[in-house]
Amino acid sequence: GVCPVCNCVCPSGPALLFVKTSQGKEEGRRFYACSACRDRKDCNFFQWEDEKVSETRLAAREEYNRNHQPFFTHRQNVERYKNFVLLPLSKRRFCQECQQLLLPAEWEKHSDHQFLCDISTAQLKSPSRLMYPLENKKTNAQYLFADRSCQFLLDLIIDLGFRRVLSVGTPRLHEIIQSKASQEEDFRVRSLLLDIDFRYSQFYTEDEFCHYNMFNHYFFGGEAARETCRKFLYQDNGERVIMVTDPPFGGLVEALASSFKKLMAMWKEAEGGGHNSQEMPTFWIFPYFFESRILEFFPSFSMMDYQVDYDNHALYKHGKTGRRQSPVRIFTNLTPSMIVLPVEEGYRFCTICQRYVSSGNQHCEMCNSCTSKDGRQWKHCVLCKKCVKPSWFHCNNCNCCALRNHACEKTDAGCFVCGKAGHKRSTCPSLSHA
Ligand code: SAH
Ligand code: ZN
Ligand code: ZN
Ligand code: ZN
Ligand code: ZN
Repeated sequence: GVCPVCNCVCPSGPALLFVKTSQGKEEGRRFYACSACRDRKDCNFFQWEDEKVSETRLAAREEYNRNHQPFFTHRQNVERYKNFVLLPLSKRRFCQECQQLLLPAEWEKHSDHQFLCDISTAQLKSPSRLMYPLENKKTNAQYLFADRSCQFLLDLIIDLGFRRVLSVGTPRLHEIIQSKASQEEDFRVRSLLLDIDFRYSQFYTEDEFCHYNMFNHYFFGGEAARETCRKFLYQDNGERVIMVTDPPFGGLVEALASSFKKLMAMWKEAEGGGHNSQEMPTFWIFPYFFESRILEFFPSFSMMDYQVDYDNHALYKHGKTGRRQSPVRIFTNLTPSMIVLPVEEGYRFCTICQRYVSSGNQHCEMCNSCTSKDGRQWKHCVLCKKCVKPSWFHCNNCNCCALRNHACEKTDAGCFVCGKAGHKRSTCPSLSHA
């Protein structure tokens, strides 16, 4: 069957195998669930591994899926777009309810829907502003880059000499690249967007957008879409490629890493690069508390101090005053000293660490590195033999540093399943077995 939300085919491949563990039991019972929609409210696909599914249930599932297919295919959407741009401004409408560009013949059908009129070319070039961000709590929440961060990323990519960007779940970066490419003659950067949000197929051709699930490396467009991606990764004339990805934070690190490795392998197999011993240059944008998880899968990566800001995230927004610190960072396999961070925002170069660090990040003589992870100045604890958060104190009971008012010897901070901090049981990365 096809998952109604993400349109993936479950369980033949795209569904992931999970393990449900209950307290005290060693072996968990295994089940298939949709890898993209982990909230049962969004995708009802659920099946025990050892379960026999009745014919009636299969039929019901297929019926449901048929009714929840997208209105148009990507090919149809490309044709529709061509017709749409030929319309005079007064006839260009976008249905907000259906999140769809409307052709005049369709107005009738959407007459009791809210719509926007006079859709300009500028609006068409910025679909991430025209459409509302998806808000599925667990997995599909779309947090769009603030202009400041998006422009910083693009400038960095250009300064590093890249000419092609594989944008995996970064629609806003993709759209500023595409928009500049169509407007500025000497702008040479190109982008291919891979994203699960099918709404983008209304604005981009099949060479610019692939409907893709980054939790299981699934191209909905099949072999043709794969080939598009492969072609894009093929670097002729030394046009260097970089992958930039900003996955949903509820995502499973293990599943994501496995997909990124497959994209990296695609890059490596694409001829013409002569980069056999290298890894595809990558920016993986993710919160700092996932550092150890990411390094587990990509030992060549290091975390940059740059704080990535978002438009529609109440907590991670860059304000003029009283700025909240964003926990989101760039993880990269490029040499850290090459990632130049803006001095006007307080970042400075540490000559010992050979990387740019945030203004509050002091070099610790004892650790011999700039140890702060969150941008605040950390302090060294001689007993723990490492730097800790400024709000922590050494507790002789627990024999480690902790908040002053912590409850001794209770490890209630971490995840129920693996004990690590940064997530709850429901999103524990160790539960997935891709
Ligand atoms: N900051 C980025 C957006 C990040 S939000 C920007 O401004 O460009 C996460 C993105 O990943 C969204 O675009 C969302 O549609 C996409 N996404 C979520 N789940 C996905 C999945 N399973 N596979 C591919 N893309 C996914
Ligand atoms: Zn409508
Ligand atoms: Zn340093
Ligand atoms: Zn230290
Ligand atoms: Zn201590």
